[in-house]
Amino acid sequence: GANKNKYRPMKWLTENSYPNDLQAKSPKAALISLVRDEELDGILQSMRQLEFHWNRRYRYPWIFFNEKPFSEEFKAATSNATLAQTEYHLVPHAHWATPSHINQTLYHNSLDYLSLTSVGKGHLLSYHAMIRWQSGLFYLHPALAAYEYYWRVEPDVHFFCDIPYDPFRFMQGTGMVYGFNMAILDDARSFASLWSTTRDFITAYPDLVHPEASLDWLLDPQTGLTYNNCQFFSNFEIGSLAFFREDEGNRKYFDWLEERGGFYYSRWGDAPVHTLSVSMFLPPDRVWWFRDIGYQHDIARHCPPPGPSESLAAAAAAAPTITGHRASTTSTGSSTVTSTSSSSSSEGEEY
Ligand code: GDP
Ligand code: MN
Repeated sequence: GANKNKYRPMKWLTENSYPNDLQAKSPKAALISLVRDEELDGILQSMRQLEFHWNRRYRYPWIFFNEKPFSEEFKAATSNATLAQTEYHLVPHAHWATPSHINQTLYHNSLDYLSLTSVGKGHLLSYHAMIRWQSGLFYLHPALAAYEYYWRVEPDVHFFCDIPYDPFRFMQGTGMVYGFNMAILDDARSFASLWSTTRDFITAYPDLVHPEASLDWLLDPQTGLTYNNCQFFSNFEIGSLAFFREDEGNRKYFDWLEERGGFYYSRWGDAPVHTLSVSMFLPPDRVWWFRDIGYQHDIARHCPPPGPSESLAAAAAAAPTITGHRASTTSTGSSTVTSTSSSSSSEGEEY
């Protein structure tokens, strides 16, 4: 019955087993990283694990961004860490420089405040350029114009389990728009006024909010009105570039935030900004929790639950409508499961 097939992985999601015509339609997707030369060891660590546990089978390109030119050493080392193509791009100056409408006095006062509270790295000038770019500008980079999906990778993160399917193909096959791995609570002082600014935006543009959007999960149960500070931990993101580039709500929302200067006068991070954007402009069923990807950033870590991959199950469920044929009707056996175990059957080094 239906239940038996529920956890059957879609053949086309797994390594080398999908039909050629589907293989040909592999999504245009890239692994992207904003990174500095001095973070070379860190990005090599992230690359080694993601390549070992996943990308060596898929060979999606790596695209690196920096506000300064990368050194030859950085390029040589990173291109040697993958069999896929690598690209190195400068962030356009206008996307990194502090915009002229920002009041420098207010900005420097806020740097002082943020260093007193020692919230994150909010006292660093570069941090403000970084959160602004990651919030609303990265997807406008010409190097990504031909791409449909991105997977954001930071230096020094960990992917410690095999990923037995293609998350990009999963996004495309299920019509998902945004994927996350962890949701966290951050220090509310770091994004003071983001919530009231967002509420003002909703009041100004109620029609841009998706009719099925749900913001309930972001509301403090005590007041029912204030932001509970929950956010997708955006150092891991797998998303649709078309959504960020083209959704009118998302574009207008970023412009609204930009005008009010909170990337500088506060520390409106890309994590709460993307969380709010995704929650306002998408129905919840377009957002996916990649719970079957083992991942760690600093002290925050997510281990996949044992048992069947829910992503594969969701893909199988979506497949009849998406591919126009039922992929799993021929089999009646008990469910076959591609597990997300951390062991690797591969020869050689493990990461
Ligand atoms: P945190 O996760 O909030 O502590 O912020 P990180 O320091 O990890 O920075 C987030 C991402 O932006 C990482 O991929 C960093 O490598 C990158 N990043 C941060 N600041 C800069 C910068 O000034 N220049 C460049 N090129 N990358 C940066
Ligand atoms: Mn980080």
